[in-house]
Amino acid sequence: MAERYRLEILDHREVAPGHWEMLLPRVGGLRDAEPGQFVSVLCRTGESWDPLLRRPFSIYRAEEDAFSFLYRVAGRGTRQLSRARAGETLDLVGPLGRGFWYRDLVPGSRVALVGGGVGVPPLFFLSQRLLEAGAVPEIYAGFASARQAVALDRWQRLGLAPQVATDDGTLGYRGVVTELLERRLAGEGLQRIYACGPRPMLREVARLAGAWGIPCQVAMEEWMACGAGVCLSCVIKVEDDASPGGRWMRVCREGPVFDGAKVVWNRA
Ligand SMILES: Cc1cc2nc3c(=O)[nH]c(=O)nc-3n(C[C@H](O)[C@H](O)[C@H](O)COP(=O)(O)OP(=O)(O)OC[C@H]3O[C@@H](n4cnc5c(N)ncnc54)[C@H](O)[C@@H]3O)c2cc1C
Repeated sequence: MAERYRLEILDHREVAPGHWEMLLPRVGGLRDAEPGQFVSVLCRTGESWDPLLRRPFSIYRAEEDAFSFLYRVAGRGTRQLSRARAGETLDLVGPLGRGFWYRDLVPGSRVALVGGGVGVPPLFFLSQRLLEAGAVPEIYAGFASARQAVALDRWQRLGLAPQVATDDGTLGYRGVVTELLERRLAGEGLQRIYACGPRPMLREVARLAGAWGIPCQVAMEEWMACGAGVCLSCVIKVEDDASPGGRWMRVCREGPVFDGAKVVWNRA
């Protein structure tokens, strides 16, 4: 269950230019967090009220007594957050949302994890859980350039060999990560695809998965103000049996993970 915590920052370091990982104690309900769930963080410091709203970040790593999130400095909130130091206190609410579903996979199931940019962090947590469940994750990670590449060393320590694409060709394949996925789909044995990243990437992953008849789960990122299902700022249209044309669902509550085949991608 989601609760508010004030936690001592155990570690906070820049893992790539403009990308920070913050390590926090894994206490209370945070122990039950599932991959794809997120925490909602107060990014202001001291007496300041700015920024007023919390910012959402996916859980990146889950260790025995600690967990982390990994973020890119995007604007005011994350810039302030990057100034926090180990030993200071962080105010967060979590775990929030509905994560990836994977417990139905039988040992030996081969699955693809497709991440773009800071969509990669929740897939690392997912890969930890998939390995525990005996599944075989294949990692496909896309970044703008080698300087923005994150999590690759962590995956290698788990014994996984991520396939990497960069827009500028400075690391791995030159091009977009969905091209790597498309090549893989020509092979056999993939039972499921999990994806997180920019909306155009998710849309293409869902299209490819549909074309090859492979179930696909996507973790959506939308602007959200409350993160608690109240403000309705993060709604997207998703089909269900009762509403074939789609109905509005809250990314923070019913998501952020949805069946990629059900998301209405072409909404305004
Ligand atoms: C469920 C969820 C999980 C997320 N997990 C991560 C994560 O693990 N790591 C990470 O780096 N980021 C993650 N994000 C995005 C992160 O929340 C935003 O980058 C952050 O809120 C920006 O705050 P800011 O005050 O620094 O930027 P602002 O000043 O508020 O905005 C700066 C720029 O960032 C972009 N932006 C802000 N919020 C979002 C958003 N929700 N989606 C897309 N673009 C946005 C806007 O284009 C804007 O121009 C996640 C978002 C969601 C909804």
